[in-house]
Amino acid sequence: VVGHPIAHSRSPLIHGHWLAELGISGRYERVDVAPDAFPAFLRTMAAQGFVGGNVTLPHKEAAFRKADRMTDAAARLGAVNTVWLGPRGEIVGHNTDGAGFLASLDEAFGPAWDREVATALVLGAGGAARAVAAALVERGLARVMVSNRTEARARALTSLAPDRISVLPWGEREAALRRVDLLVNATQLGMTGQGALDLSLDALGSRAMVCDLVYVPLETPLLADARRRGLRAADGLGMLLHQAAPGFEAWFGVRPAVTPALRALVEADIDGRQ
Ligand code: NAP
Repeated sequence: VVGHPIAHSRSPLIHGHWLAELGISGRYERVDVAPDAFPAFLRTMAAQGFVGGNVTLPHKEAAFRKADRMTDAAARLGAVNTVWLGPRGEIVGHNTDGAGFLASLDEAFGPAWDREVATALVLGAGGAARAVAAALVERGLARVMVSNRTEARARALTSLAPDRISVLPWGEREAALRRVDLLVNATQLGMTGQGALDLSLDALGSRAMVCDLVYVPLETPLLADARRRGLRAADGLGMLLHQAAPGFEAWFGVRPAVTPALRALVEADIDGRQ
């Protein structure tokens, strides 16, 4: 996993667990690469013995520009979080955030959750929100509203699917909740050390589902509030674990499982480092 900084990444813990569990004699390393050194790093990845890897902040867009070939998911988002070497040694860029997000909802709410959701509200318009909005559209949701402090970023995001993604002014997010079946926090608000999300859930219906992409802490104030009200809630660790699986499969040829043991391992790490 390559990023800058990278010390905080939990990906080595996840992939290390799968390598040990499956008895594969591979390695998964974290490499700190500054932005100006990233293109050269990617070019020499194979020579350094890597079959692929994950790309995280701030390199996701640079990886998109520099990869030789792109999957549809990466092309749609203009960002790459997973790379591998193709049959001719070419660098293939992929993005697993959307699939990881949907898999985490399937796990938390059951695979038929989408039948109960006509309208979703995504808070945020950064890279994570973009992946979430695209995934919800792909899943078939009729209406995805995006609300962001900086409205221009939300507007830019609607180009993913102009007929189904609309902008909700940031000041109207609370009142709009009465129309919302699925609420997703894709801002960093609620994360340890960041500001509070500060959103009253009073207007949400009793059948609504709530998902927070923030996973430090695991139980964010938003999720705790949702659960207190008897709403269904999904934390951000599910997405983190599920987005990792396709990369592992591409590099090592085996689809790994997201198990309670893996979840417990990462939860303990989050608790220990908070
Ligand atoms: P990003 O591109 O930097 O976007 C950050 C978002 O947060 C923007 O929409 C930004 O709004 C908003 N924001 C930041 N401070 C704010 C404030 N004080 N008030 C209102 N809005 C504020 O980051 P990202 O990569 O999309 O990540 C967003 C969150 O998702 C992070 O917490 C990250 O850890 C989490 N995430 C989780 C997973 C997972 O696997 N669970 C994966 C990816 C990301 P502006 O545009 O107005 O600045």
